[in-house]
Amino acid sequence: MHPACMALKGAGLESRCFPSRAWLIETSRGLHLWDTGYATHFKDAARGIYRLYPLVTPVHLDAQAALVEQLRREGLHGRDLQSIVISHFHADHMAGLKDFPTPRIVCSGEAWDSVQGLSGLRALRRAFLPGLVPADTQSRLQFVESLPQRALPAELSPFALGADLDGSGEVLIVPLPGHAIGHLGAFVRLEQGWLLIASDAAWAKESYEALRGPSELSFLIQHRRSAYYRTLHSLHALHARGIPVMLTHEAPEQAP
Ligand SMILES: [Zn+2]
Repeated sequence: MHPACMALKGAGLESRCFPSRAWLIETSRGLHLWDTGYATHFKDAARGIYRLYPLVTPVHLDAQAALVEQLRREGLHGRDLQSIVISHFHADHMAGLKDFPTPRIVCSGEAWDSVQGLSGLRALRRAFLPGLVPADTQSRLQFVESLPQRALPAELSPFALGADLDGSGEVLIVPLPGHAIGHLGAFVRLEQGWLLIASDAAWAKESYEALRGPSELSFLIQHRRSAYYRTLHSLHALHARGIPVMLTHEAPEQAP
């Protein structure tokens, strides 16, 4: 829950629900998770000074809605996943990592480096809760910078290159700078065409449709305003060309 105007300028102070999505992606090579959403580990990690996180952004999680439970109901387990991609290390995107002890963890090296040694208020300012990182993460990491780059089709410009997640060419990861250091999105090729998982590059559809940004206050926790707006303009161009854009926190009635 968060005041509506944090996500969208002029949207008012009323508290609104922002779901925290994750995506299960199936390619011809295997299954991948894009982010993990919240998980029961969040409660344990949000103790002491880290209690400030849920004070500012109250979190409601039904244990049955945790991703690991949703997947179990579909007959899927951590061992069935080839990788978990973490778009960035904000708690609402990686709180479930400890529920999946085996898959490789894909993220940007920049994002990983930016949270090393972070604790206390400095961590909180980056929405990072150190207790959510599994102890063996280092040995399971694969940085997106080390994946092979492929050219993207012209319809996806201004994006030109994407990192191939599993060699299938069906998930091509791109940097979406501005929101957080090393923040990632991905073009996913479906039968009906490409779509972009844009993670937190915007918090509401109206942002990239009408180029209406979030509250200026939000840039206290977002990384870089100038890069954020450059990314927003890129999303705007894709949208104008009919490429679907999917956001982690868009309102449920808006999700494609
Ligand atoms: Zn975020």
